[in-house]
Amino acid sequence: MKLILLGPPGAGKGTQAEALAKRRGLVQLSTGEMLRAAVKAGTEIGKKADAVMKAGGLVSNEIVIGIIAERIEQPDCKNGFILDGFPRTLPQAAALDKLLKSKGTKLDAVIELKVDDGILLSRIENRVKETLAAGGTVRADDNAEALKSRLMAYYRETAPLTGYYFAKEDLETIDGMAPIDEVARQIDAILAKVAA
Ligand code: ADP
Repeated sequence: MKLILLGPPGAGKGTQAEALAKRRGLVQLSTGEMLRAAVKAGTEIGKKADAVMKAGGLVSNEIVIGIIAERIEQPDCKNGFILDGFPRTLPQAAALDKLLKSKGTKLDAVIELKVDDGILLSRIENRVKETLAAGGTVRADDNAEALKSRLMAYYRETAPLTGYYFAKEDLETIDGMAPIDEVARQIDAILAKVAA
């Protein structure tokens, strides 16, 4: 099973991808996590991505496509994967199609988590509070200013992907404002449908 979770920052892609990966024995591929790891490790890619990410902008297509191309070649991706945060632009979507085609495979589903703009900021504020309460480190881009840029990047670059996948008849949209378990149930229902 190969699928994409699509949605604005704070929509719950990471939460759902992690739970779904556990339920189904799939690998969660989060480009955001991979880039944060690269920044932490101080690699060449990390050095290039650091400032852009802090400001809430998008890292270059070339870098993220390279990361994903390399990652899906790993043996653990053979059973399938959940892409969380990739693709984020039309060129990334086209590159992914090409990559999968060259491997003789394709996506099983693209699931969009729909969430009203107004609640995204409060969700991210909550995430910051919870992280601090648990003694963790708050993400450098989890602040009001960077979030505004992340939302703008989402609407300018990523939102058009829903049209792209709708036209390819891959798109399924669910209510990302429902409780976490209910969203998970709806994702499972879609996966059962595409598997049938
Ligand atoms: P969010 O909660 O905003 O969706 P992510 O963890 O998915 O956060 O991504 C964090 C940051 O990493 C993004 O704001 C962007 O700078 C960078 N990033 C992640 N994935 C991509 C991608 N596919 N293309 C470009 N930049 C990306």
